[in-house]
Amino acid sequence: MSQDLTLLLIEDEPEIRRFLRTTLPAHGFRLHEAVTGKDGLTEAKARNPDLVLLDLGLPDLEGNEVIRQIREWTTMPIIVLSARDQEQAKVAALDLGADDYITKPFGVNELIARMRAALRHASRPVDGGESVFVLGDLKVDIDRRQVFVSEKEVHLTPIEYKLLTTLIRYAGRVMTHRQLLKEVWGPLHVDEGHYLRVYMRQLRNKLERNPAHPRYLMTELGVGYRLRTE
Ligand code: CA
Repeated sequence: MSQDLTLLLIEDEPEIRRFLRTTLPAHGFRLHEAVTGKDGLTEAKARNPDLVLLDLGLPDLEGNEVIRQIREWTTMPIIVLSARDQEQAKVAALDLGADDYITKPFGVNELIARMRAALRHASRPVDGGESVFVLGDLKVDIDRRQVFVSEKEVHLTPIEYKLLTTLIRYAGRVMTHRQLLKEVWGPLHVDEGHYLRVYMRQLRNKLERNPAHPRYLMTELGVGYRLRTE
């Protein structure tokens, strides 16, 4: 079973929100909505979604200002929704760090193809390595969002999966509690160390043969966690 993706839609046009609200859940996306740029920024920080869909013409802030502020703290994929006459704004959006754009009106299949491409790119290990991560009897297929232990598929919650793939992205390196909290839960939650302890315990219970003596998900005492690479 693949894991649900969370998606934040920042868009003031009710027709587009309604269209996406009725189509995207069937494709495995959990949708959160914001109508203004300010609300969008708040939601992005609070929910740390897997992907942002951003309308460039918002009532309060320029869409590009929203991109600039999101890029101050995260590389989460951003796809811009633009009108036909917004060429300059579109280029500026990409220069500011948006991953892709789609011109209105668009079909849901085209949008999903764009989103999958942006997500695939975002979940690649930083060194451009394989999209399948293997460590002992643990196998993570990042393109398909599937996790196996000894060839048996293991179901992870969205947060567990995000925690695991974040560790994979930095495999072999120590990640501090704050770094992990920021990457997985978002910058408003960097002091919530108990989230991390709870989810790390769940992840070990699902992935480790002996969760009390982990072989993969290593504790770096007083610092954070490290995913072993050999
Ligand atoms: Ca608009």
